[in-house]
Amino acid sequence: MNTATETAAEPLEHRHSNNFLRLKKKLERSVGEAIGDYNMIGDGDTVMVCVSGGKDSYTLLSCLLALRERAPVDFRILAMNLDQKQPGFPDHILPEYFESIGVEYRIVTEDTYSIVKDKIPEGKTTCSLCSRLRRGIIYRTAKEIGATRIALGHHRDDMLETLFLNMFFGGKIKAMPPKLVSDDGNHVVIRPLAYCTESDIVRFARTMDFPIIPCNLCGSQENAQRKQIKNMLQTWARDFPGRIESLTTSLKNVVPSHLADQKLFDFVGVDRNTILTEGDIAFDREPLPEPTTGILRLHPGQ
Ligand code: SF4
Repeated sequence: MNTATETAAEPLEHRHSNNFLRLKKKLERSVGEAIGDYNMIGDGDTVMVCVSGGKDSYTLLSCLLALRERAPVDFRILAMNLDQKQPGFPDHILPEYFESIGVEYRIVTEDTYSIVKDKIPEGKTTCSLCSRLRRGIIYRTAKEIGATRIALGHHRDDMLETLFLNMFFGGKIKAMPPKLVSDDGNHVVIRPLAYCTESDIVRFARTMDFPIIPCNLCGSQENAQRKQIKNMLQTWARDFPGRIESLTTSLKNVVPSHLADQKLFDFVGVDRNTILTEGDIAFDREPLPEPTTGILRLHPGQ
């Protein structure tokens, strides 16, 4: 999605500047780490990279192509775009881009725009039907081309936004997985940008001068709840250094015995012989680091 961050007027870096080369290296290293940590891509895989024409998917494709050059395993990359027939969609941009960088690609044209407009009453949010239709087409295409992996351009900040959306509005602690099997059980979906920040991607995409296709062609507004969460996270990032990084780390450090989900932990069966990595510490406080800026203390009296 195009965001406020994306349009922020920042000076353009030169593609050969040290700063930019460092940024490129950082993104590629993060993508490589995520791929390694979650065993996202193996020898002989065909990775179908979904490219919408937004900054995230261009960045994903670019990093995967760069990493393939030096990867110890051999895998195939195929870029895929779904032309949903939104009014004004510039359907020449992506084929031209893919050809210019010499990547194999497939453009799929399906008029989901008309279906969505037909089915959803004026003024109602169209995104859920639209993305459901898109998902079906993506899965079908992956099957047709024999893709063993479907790569999506969601990044770290998308994952955190989803976590809070689910907590605030869905009553669930659930984010976006770096790797999972698709809901139809037939495909492995990967998110190699899982460790990349949106701000780095914005900088990278600006300097790379990707031919960005606006994502508001369908006329739909950004979901108000997502916008609210995005603003909250951006405020935290600005006012509380380290908080977002700590949140990100927390996604990898879940302690089911310290939540309350009986499906994840057998609270009913707990007795004195239950073996735990972390027991209850009664009224003791968690040893948390001191805040770095003018933050309210977590424990009054400390
Ligand atoms: S913003 Fe438009 S194209 Fe994107 S999911 Fe929503 S309805 Fe579909």
